[in-house]
Amino acid sequence: MTDSSNICLSCGLCCDGTLIGFVQLERAELPAMKDLLDVEDENGAGFFLQPCIRYCDGCTIYSKRPKQCASFKCGLLKSVEQKELHFDSALETIHLVKQIKIGIEEKLDVLQLELKSNSFYFRMVELKTLFKKTMSKSSLTREHLELLSDIEALDSVMLNKFGVSI
Ligand code: SF4
Ligand code: SF4
Repeated sequence: MTDSSNICLSCGLCCDGTLIGFVQLERAELPAMKDLLDVEDENGAGFFLQPCIRYCDGCTIYSKRPKQCASFKCGLLKSVEQKELHFDSALETIHLVKQIKIGIEEKLDVLQLELKSNSFYFRMVELKTLFKKTMSKSSLTREHLELLSDIEALDSVMLNKFGVSI
């Protein structure tokens, strides 16, 4: 097993609902995937929401995983594969994202902000909308500002290291 495949085993951010919100499925793979995943089927166009029910410290249906999962490579993985980024630096980045995530969840608990989504990805989308639409700058407390700062830090590392924007 190469370094670049090991990096995914230490990560899982594209399966646990952090990096992306859903996985699109091809029409031809829908019947098989319905037996394996919580597939939403809209007029033959299928997808499933993250966090993926098949993620448990790695993909538990690896050999049967959907095509989009098999072909997906985030910027971090590509950088390791192309030897532009050292394996240990990539691990540090993954750890950083997980730490920022924990910090955000803790602040959400303290602020008791009610978000409907199950996945972290869509919770961040909701949160940004909440800040933009319903909160004026003058109403923001120190805790709000710290939360915003964490979200900005997350956005920055997601965009610059993983090539993904939430
Ligand atoms: S986010 Fe990137 S490094 Fe992490 S598991 Fe997915 S492809 Fe691998
Ligand atoms: S099917 Fe496997 S690779 Fe795809 S999102 Fe779920 S756990 Fe990840």
